[in-house]
Amino acid sequence: MISIQDQIVLITGASSGIGAACARVFAQAGAKLILVARRQERLEQIAEELGHSSVHLLALDVCDRSAVESTLEKLPEPWSAIDILINNAGLSRGLNKFQEGDFQDWEEMIDTNLKGLLYLTRYIVPGMISRGKGHIVNLGSTAGHYTYPNGNVYCATKAAVRVISEGLKQDLLGTPVRVSSVDPGLVETEFSQVRFRGDGDRAKKVYQGLTPLTPADVADVILFCVTRPLHVNVSEVLLMPTDQA
Ligand code: NDP
Repeated sequence: MISIQDQIVLITGASSGIGAACARVFAQAGAKLILVARRQERLEQIAEELGHSSVHLLALDVCDRSAVESTLEKLPEPWSAIDILINNAGLSRGLNKFQEGDFQDWEEMIDTNLKGLLYLTRYIVPGMISRGKGHIVNLGSTAGHYTYPNGNVYCATKAAVRVISEGLKQDLLGTPVRVSSVDPGLVETEFSQVRFRGDGDRAKKVYQGLTPLTPADVADVILFCVTRPLHVNVSEVLLMPTDQA
């Protein structure tokens, strides 16, 4: 196991769920954190919980390519030397048959789950290569492995995350930069609330009849991936609630 003490870790979607859990777990392991999300007040709450030390906040929409570029360009020392990028920001909208799909929902999922991940990675990877170290962790999903009814476009974005992770790994061969895809099953977060636009009853039904993963379960696996010895790359992890089909 290698130490991540004082490593600079950028986490997107750090204002709730899996991203916030990663912030807690990585802070505990001694990392310096750049926390990214749109809701600044949520980020500030998490920074306060972590004692503000070694935390840098970026209120940023990952879908806005020019904002991503200029924000990353303006990062002060030592924050600009990012060691670990956790591409976690993501969402699902609706649960509709394809033929009833809402174009705005589709665009939001594609922009956030794919373009956001591509922008952050494209701007950060060159620095990792030139500094001779780095690790990218992409949040996929079981939805990228198994398509379910009415999940069409969300499943497509998560299948694409797996392909991007694999392609990136191929293109980084010969460099010390590692790439992992962490693909969870059901995790109890605000994800279902967002999917059903605040319809709490519908959101709760998603977890009925099983014990979902917690955000901390996923954060622990991400920490495991990045703390392996440098010659070990955990390429893909599929983690499921024990009782999820
Ligand atoms: P949450 O809804 O709890 O968290 C999503 C995070 O993404 C929030 O912090 C949100 O912050 C951020 N986010 C969304 N859009 C943007 C944007 N445009 N720019 C910046 N940040 C954004 O969900 P989870 O923690 O569950 O989801 C995290 C990841 O895990 C997602 O990629 C999801 O697809 C994946 N996943 C989730 C599963 C689950 O069952 N929950 C299962 C498998 C994978 P803000 O709104 O403040 O911008």
